[in-house]
Order: sequence, then C-alpha cells, then structure tokens
Amino acid sequence: MAKLVYAFGKGKGEGNARMKDLLGGKGANLAEMTNLGIPVPPGFTISTRACNAYSERGQRFPEELASQVERALGRLETLQGKRFGDEADPLLVSVRSGAKFSMPGMMDTILNLGLNDRSTDGLARASGDRRFAFDAYRRFLSMYGSVVLGIDKAEFESQLDAAKERRGVAADTDLDVSDLERLVGQFQSTIRARSGKSFPQKPHEQLWGAIAAVFRSWGNDRARRYRREYGIPDHLGTAANVQSMVYGNLGDDCATGVAFTRNPATGENVLYGEYLVNAQGEDVVAGTRTPQPISRSQKTDATQVTLEERMPKAYAELQTIRRTLEKHYKDMQDIEFTIERGRLYLLQTRTGKRTGLAALHIAFDLHAARVIPQREVLRRVDPDMLVQLLAPVFDPAELSRARSDGRVVARGLPAGPGAASGTIAFSAERAEALAHDGRRVLLVRTETSPEDIGGMVAAVGILTSRGGMTSHAAVVARGMGKPCVVGAESIRVAEHDGHLVAGSTTLREGDALSIDGTTGEVILGPLDPHPSEIQQILVEKTKRPARSKLYRRFSKLMRLADQVRRMRVRTNADTPEDARVARAFGAEGIGLCRTEHMFFAEDRISVVREMILADDDAQRARALERLLPMQRADFIGIFKAMNGLPVTIRLLDPPLHEFLPTRPEQFRRIAAEMGVTAAALEAKARQLHETNPMLGHRGCRLGVTFPAIYEMQARAIFEAAVHCRRERVRVLPEVMIPLVGTVEEFRVLAARVRSVADEVLGTARGRLRYLVGTMIEVPRACLVADSIAAEAEFFSFGTNDLTQMTYGFSRDDVGKFLPQYVAMRLLPSDPFQTLDTVGVGRLVRLCIAEGRGRKSDLKVGVCGEHGGDARSVLFFHDAGADYVSCSPYRVPIARLAAAHGVLTDRGGSGTA
Ligand code: ADP
Ligand code: MG
Ligand code: MG
Repeated sequence: MAKLVYAFGKGKGEGNARMKDLLGGKGANLAEMTNLGIPVPPGFTISTRACNAYSERGQRFPEELASQVERALGRLETLQGKRFGDEADPLLVSVRSGAKFSMPGMMDTILNLGLNDRSTDGLARASGDRRFAFDAYRRFLSMYGSVVLGIDKAEFESQLDAAKERRGVAADTDLDVSDLERLVGQFQSTIRARSGKSFPQKPHEQLWGAIAAVFRSWGNDRARRYRREYGIPDHLGTAANVQSMVYGNLGDDCATGVAFTRNPATGENVLYGEYLVNAQGEDVVAGTRTPQPISRSQKTDATQVTLEERMPKAYAELQTIRRTLEKHYKDMQDIEFTIERGRLYLLQTRTGKRTGLAALHIAFDLHAARVIPQREVLRRVDPDMLVQLLAPVFDPAELSRARSDGRVVARGLPAGPGAASGTIAFSAERAEALAHDGRRVLLVRTETSPEDIGGMVAAVGILTSRGGMTSHAAVVARGMGKPCVVGAESIRVAEHDGHLVAGSTTLREGDALSIDGTTGEVILGPLDPHPSEIQQILVEKTKRPARSKLYRRFSKLMRLADQVRRMRVRTNADTPEDARVARAFGAEGIGLCRTEHMFFAEDRISVVREMILADDDAQRARALERLLPMQRADFIGIFKAMNGLPVTIRLLDPPLHEFLPTRPEQFRRIAAEMGVTAAALEAKARQLHETNPMLGHRGCRLGVTFPAIYEMQARAIFEAAVHCRRERVRVLPEVMIPLVGTVEEFRVLAARVRSVADEVLGTARGRLRYLVGTMIEVPRACLVADSIAAEAEFFSFGTNDLTQMTYGFSRDDVGKFLPQYVAMRLLPSDPFQTLDTVGVGRLVRLCIAEGRGRKSDLKVGVCGEHGGDARSVLFFHDAGADYVSCSPYRVPIARLAAAHGVLTDRGGSGTA
C-alpha cells in the first residue's frame, strides 16, 4: 500500500526538507525542523499524491487514506496525551495546505479543528479560561464555514464587527466571553441558513471536510491565477498538514508572529518581523490589529513595544533558532511562530523572498561568514533581480524639496525598493484599464488580496494603508520587483468611494502620487524617477565607487559572473551614446546596430524620402550621395565608442513606406523640395503601399531590388573603418544582411558588400578584418542553414522575427489575443518575451547544428529581445551560442544569466 501520510513530532520526522514534491514546502520543512530539534507542534502530513488522487477520482479520497490518517491521529493522541473529540480536554488540530512552491495566501488553512459545543466547554475548564475557549470556537466556526462550506467570509466578519460596535471597542481582544458566546451562536445559525445543514459536531467529519477543502483549494481561481503568474505547474497538487494546535491567544503571556531571519528589504543581518500579543496566527496578516515590531532596531516610534522588550526570554530563543535555521538552510528564512504561555513554537520556515538589494547583500554576507562558497553567491542572485538594483530612485534634491514643501503626506513601510510615480487607481481592474491606456498607474488600496494580482502586475508601484512587511502586498511586490510602500496608516483609503484622504488632502483616481519604496515615503503629486546609484557611478559618473557598498558588491558579482560564463554579452545600440552606456554595463561589442534609426534623424529624413521617391536611378544616386557622409559619420562615432570591440551593423531592414510622409503638408513640402507635384508624390507613395508589410518588401529584398542602398551603406561602413584606423581606433566591423531565406539572396548581396570593401580598402585590405554574415529570422533560413553557412561568416538570430514567423503571429497585433492565450494556458508565456524553446528553440538548435556542421567555427549570436531575458539566455547557453546581445540596461542581467547557464544543471543536452 502506498504511503500517503508522514508523521512528525517528538524530535523525529518521517519526511525531510528534500521531500517538497511529496510533502509540500510546509510539510517538508516541519519535518526537517522537527529533526533539527526545534520545538514544532507535532502532527502529520498527507502527501500531494493523495491530493492528486483525490482530484483524479472526481473528488473522492483514495481508499488507503482513511486507515493511514486514523493511525497517525492515534499516534498523535498518544504523543499529546489528549484525545481528538474528547469532551473534557480535546486535542485540537490545524489543517493547513502547503504546496511545493509557496503561494502566499492562495490556499486555505483551518485552525482549532476538533471543537464542538461540548468540547468547547471542556476546553474552557481544562484551560481555566472560558473566554479563550469561545475565542477559539468562533474562529474555528468562521474558518470552517468559509473554507469548507463556502460561505462568504464577510458574513462572519460583519457579525464580528457588529459585536465590536455594540461594545464600542476596536479590537477582537476587547470582546468578552458573553460576546464570543453570542457570536458562536450567530455563526452556527449563519452556517445552518447558508449551507442548509447544521455545523458538524463530529470531529472526524470536520477533519475529513477540512482535508477535502484543502485539496480542493489547489484548484481555486486565485491559486490558478497565482500559478500562472509564477509559472508553477498545475499538476503538482498540495499536501495537507494536520498539526496539533498551540495557542497564542491564551492571554498576555502568549503571542504569534512572523519574521525574517534578516531584513528582507535591505539584507541587514537582524531578526526582522512583527507580532501580536494574545492572538492566533491569521491575525498578524489579517491587519485587524496593528502588529508590533519584533526587534528593538526596527522601532520607528516610541509607542511601539517590541517582542525583544516584552518577552525577552522568548526573543532570545527566537534568536537562537534564527542562527540554527540559517546555519542549516544556509539562507535567509521566513518563519512563523507562536508563543503559548511563554513557550516558543515554530510553525513554518521557508526561504524568504527578498529584494534584489537584499539578495546581493545576503549572498555576500553569507559568503563572508563562510556559510556559502563564492560560486554560490552568483547562484543566489536571480538575474531578474538586478533590474531592481538598476531601478530608478528620486532625485535627492527634489525629494528634499518635496519634504520641505510638506508634500510627504505619509510614511509607510519600505516594502519594495525603487521610486514610482503615477496616477492613482483604487482597484485592480481600474489599474489594468488605465495601464492599458498607456498610463503609469499607482495601485492604492487599504490592503491587497490575491484577487488583485492583475492590477499589481499592471501598476508601476503599490501603496497600501494597512499591513506589514509580510502582508500580501509586500510579499507579492517584492517578488515582482515593484516599488511598494505598505502600512501607510495615516492615509485613509476609501476604495469604494474612489478617494483617499491624507491629512487635509483628498485625492481621487487620476490624481498624481509618488512613492519611495526605499524610504517608505508617500509624496503628493508627480516626481521624476532618477537613475540608480549604480547608474550614477557607472554611466553618469556623478558618484564615486568608493562611496557605495552596493556598487562594490554589484561589480564584484559581475566580475564573478564574467569569470564563470562562457557566452559573451553584446549590446543592441544604434548611437554612440547607447554604446557608451552599454560599455559601462560591461557590453563586449555591439550585436545589433540598426541603421534605419539613423535614417529617421531630423536632418536626414527628407533626403531619405527623396531617395525612396526618386523617379530614376540618377535621382536616387544623388540622394544617396548626400546620405553617404552622414551615414559614415554615424559609423565613425560608433566605432570610436566601441574601440577594439566588434560591431555588427545591419543593413537597411524595414519596408520603405515606413519612411514616407503621412500628412498632406509633408507631401507638399517634400514635393516642393524635389520639384514635383504633391499629387505625383502621393501616387508614388500609394505604389509603395503593401498589404502585409512585415512579410513584404523589406530586409534583403530591398537590397536585391535597390542595390544602391546597400552599396552606399557598405561604403559608409568601410570608409568609416579606414578613417578610424588612420586615427588608431581599432575596428572590427561585421556586416549583417537581414531577412535572408535563401543562400542565393545571401550570395548576391554578400558579393556586392565584399566588392565595395575591396574597392574602398584597396591596398589596405589585408589589414582590416571584417565579416559578412546574416541575420537568421526567416524559418527557411534555419532549414537551409547548411548551405547559408557555406557562404556566411556568422549567424545572428533575430528572434523577434523568427518568433513572429514561426508562429505566424504578427507582433504588432498579438495584443488582441495573446493575453487570453496565456490566461488559458495555450501558451506558457509571451513568446516575444521568453523564447519558445520547444518550437522556435528547435529551429535555433537545428540551425546551429547544421551551420556548425558546415563551418565548425561559425560565429553564432542572438540579437533579438530574448538576448536580455534571463530564461532565454539559459537556453542560448545550452544551445551553444557564442554571444547574446541586448539593450544596454539589460547587459548586467545577461552577464549573470550567462553565468547561471554554466552553474546550473538543467539536465538538457548541453552545448551543440
Ligand atoms: P498560510 O500558508 O496562509 O500562512 P498556514 O497554514 O501557515 O497558512 O497557517 C495560517 C496561520 O495559522 C499561520 O500564522 C500559522 O502559524 C498558524 N497556525 C497554523 N497551524 C497552527 C497550529 N497548529 N497552532 C498554532 N498556529 C497555527
Ligand atoms: Mg504560513
Ligand atoms: Mg527582423
């Protein structure tokens, strides 16, 4: 019989931390902590296998489960010296969901299970605290009612609120035993009215109902949406943990809390968290009472009472456990704990989510403390997290002006670093709608909940008036790398009325507001975000490296990555300025210099239009002659900026009509300049119109039909090279012919480029090394890569077009259906952001194999957007590319991702 139940308790767990697939993260770590000798209330974990079997069998438990659960329960009773369902002194349990990957707040947990009308009396007598017993019972009834019976939680909450109102009190803890007894009665009537059945008094029936509800919660909408957002597979299932209760609500020597073993925003090595006296677990995140800070160093005002001050003994134990856990897990942990009459229990541990800043500092600090080796430092920083380190901040001068002008209207907790400024939206839906209209949106809510995920994705920043560093908003925003301020308590948010009140100011949707997720400040009006510290040092050079620990560690990380990685990282840059920024971020060349951007410059576009609209070759030649010196100057600028590094220049690519005028007055002006009539010009423009321009007259097809254009460009490149060499600038030009689908196209165009080179270089020919290669972006090119490789000196994957043409998706129109495809899981993610390794990736691998089969030293690069996407970079590493090329600000991400490619074993087939 398959084992479905794993016990933990009395210093021994049947499971361990490596069994997350089977026991979920929570269950695996409860067992691990038990084995470490950490005080954990005993219990057992029902495996994910049981959950999956339950779903597969149409929501029926597998046969062997009942006996295994009963046996585990029996042993738990023996261990605790109490009986489940005992009327005098009942054993109570929690039933907790817990999947392989943590999904904060997505699934359900029920506390105090096992209580009924009689055993509540028993619990009252046994504990000597009748208030406590009824507090536990009312909690259980509302959790059971909502989670198992599907009754709206708000019904119970509004009755609780009414009870507090009757009493004229604000906190649950101020209700007395008679209030709670009355609530228990009301909750039972609600359950009867809404579910048509009385609340089940039999503990075993309660238990099986709860286990089923936990299993079902894996499939609820919130959980599905969350998994989609984070790419967690649907087939994993959740485990259910049945654990004996410990009580944080037995009086003022009891408490419950959550903590990080280090500060998750800054990485500082201090115990960091929040707790509540006389409360049960869910109160801390629910935001009904304001939790207090755990450590003295966290205090922001004198009225706060920390756990360190209030319960020094438990605090000291927590510190010891913090060290034990970090030593064991070798990483920062996120823990839940409960203190029952002065005794500390751990209820959960997992690797803590953190900001990019914290990730960097924690990794280096752990290495300095000899907990992890140097290479591990690299692995600990997720390449995407670097985005946050490069994220904008507010200008210090502007910020201090805003402060002295009294524009700082509130201060909350700095939950996610970075500066954000935008227009206010009070609901996730409005945030999505406004963002869709191209606005920068700040999502402002009392608190966020899992239903708000869509709006959080759409917003540039998130602000809440309630909640702590471990609230939903804080955890999710940190995961997304969004600037976020939580718990700005002086702001009153009236979502339903569509306004917020901050001091004497009322703001509505559409008004501008700014947040600084690094300081926690909330600032009225707009503020311009400004470059990060790293950018100030590297690019603007307005700050000195010696003054920034962050920068020193960032550059150390980059150096480590450079030592490890195999692939080179280049940049996509069209101007000397972009090239300079990219070099500052470590680019090792230009992988894509688009020449069309140069054609759009103000002083050139009219000449370009003349060239396009020319009636005959002579007229066209005259226009090209005027473009030549301009284009040559462009290349000189770029070659100088990249002194000594390779520069790949793509010859003209877009359909010509993109350069044409659209407005009548433009036609009139150009016609006058060219000495023709506006009507004639418009007729010419109509001729150039195409039904499907992305598949039309563009790329090398232009080169074939208008040879003079590519010849002019080639001439400009080689003349620029000669000029630079004379000035002792080293140049390594790589001329790239776009959109090639047949070797014949390539052959004829490459021959022309080479003959221009011969002519321009003349006797200097031998001394200038240059390459002529092609962009691989038409699927056919992949299929005939063998023949193209015979002629081309390099391949560079243009993965945007390759994706577009492989799927047959027009990139400019996918917005109409792609979101739904992703929502319905017809696609795992947007293939224009993260490479489709299955389909497009297969073409890439085939192309590299065929190309290298013909020419073993064929240079292979990637110049589409995917070159800066961490997950795609891993693929290109595996596929054997020589380099990736990406936008300047993503160069550090690609460097680190390329190192991860070497360090992490993905079980793939290795390099081609
Ligand atoms: P979530 O995944 O939403 O955090 P949990 O299963 O961790 O759900 O439980 C919710 C809260 O209840 C947590 O604060 C947890 O510490 C607390 N809790 C769970 N089980 C017990 C227990 N047996 N005794 C005391 N508190 C518990
Ligand atoms: Mg938890
Ligand atoms: Mg292209």
